[in-house]
Amino acid sequence: MLLKLSARYLCLSMLASTCWLQAQAAPAPTVKSPKVVLVSIDGLRWQEVFHGADPEILRNSQFIRHADQLAELPTKPQQLMPFVHQTIASQGMLVGDRRRGSAMQVSNPWHFSYPGYNELLSGFPDPAINSNGKIANPNVTVLEWLNQQPGMAQQVAAFGSWDVLPFILNTERSKLPVNAGFAPMNEQMAGPLTPQLKLLNQLQRQTPSPWAAVRLDVFTQQFALEYLTQKKPRLLYIAYGETDDFAHDGQYDQYLKAIRRTDGFIKELWQQLQSDPFYAGQTTLLISTDHGRGDNANSWQHHASGRAIAGYMKKLKNFGNGVSGSDQIWLAALGPQIPARGLVQTQQPWSQSQVASTVAELLGYDYQAYQYKAAAAIPLGTADEATVQLAGRRAAMTTAAEGAGSAPQQGTVLTPQ
Ligand SMILES: [Zn+2]
Repeated sequence: MLLKLSARYLCLSMLASTCWLQAQAAPAPTVKSPKVVLVSIDGLRWQEVFHGADPEILRNSQFIRHADQLAELPTKPQQLMPFVHQTIASQGMLVGDRRRGSAMQVSNPWHFSYPGYNELLSGFPDPAINSNGKIANPNVTVLEWLNQQPGMAQQVAAFGSWDVLPFILNTERSKLPVNAGFAPMNEQMAGPLTPQLKLLNQLQRQTPSPWAAVRLDVFTQQFALEYLTQKKPRLLYIAYGETDDFAHDGQYDQYLKAIRRTDGFIKELWQQLQSDPFYAGQTTLLISTDHGRGDNANSWQHHASGRAIAGYMKKLKNFGNGVSGSDQIWLAALGPQIPARGLVQTQQPWSQSQVASTVAELLGYDYQAYQYKAAAAIPLGTADEATVQLAGRRAAMTTAAEGAGSAPQQGTVLTPQ
């Protein structure tokens, strides 16, 4: 009896990490014609993704403009990101909840946007990219490279809310179709404009944005969905931006509402993909971010490394050693090539620089064969080091449990809080 209890306690104490091993044992189904949609949500902290609103920030009236509406704010993880917590947590995988042994980080030394997008898209950190200026990226991104591969020509497109995205993707050189910032959709990119696109162009022109360099995400979303319907790219990148800007503005209530809206955009996107025979059952969705943010109520608005503060980000000099937490990111994945692993526990943090190779691998291409500096793809469908080690422990535990006559543990997925 004692042995039985301790085996059960062991399993619980390991946060069921052994149990998702059973759930992810089935091999990923073969995908005949794979497609990928890569999404980034600018500066969205893993703290809100996995644990919801920070009560200490919520209590600070400086960050909540409309305290009378506090009760209506989405604050629990399930309220903030229902698609992530209902669909992705049960059917896909999540990384980045540091309170539960799952970590991902940027590798670049700056911890702000352009260096993060460069790392995400080119597959390696480039210390020379040290500003958010509108400078054509000297590095080739995985989008540019894939667009030049057999079978992928004219099959890649990008949409973003920030007007620097065309420079990050170096559209002058890459010739990638990109719609970002306040650019209207044009016929060069979309072909003859549908009534829907004409209306979106008009609404965008007539709608004020709170920011000079970033449009409201609804335009990025609707332009992307219309493009998806009309042009059917095999690789689509969507870069949402509102979360970061509301956070910089110190409007925590608006930041929370933006998170909720963005989760809804992703659900809408996923539903459109699943209702289109070209994409349904063939498409992998990857979601991540360009950087983290400060990890407490005094620093959540900001993000920068100490090195960045010594130079480009000197306005943050009060945070001399850097804004702690800025390098911490997360990732979510869903689709036929993604096993239902729930929250994946990591022995070593995964890196932002692994995403580019991952995108290529999902589409059947070897990015590292071209870009030797790129990090290896994330082991999405297979066991990583931590899994292997846990598998050994699980075997030992199963033996102990069986010896005590207890029923084998059911395969359950560790869902995030
Ligand atoms: Zn950013």
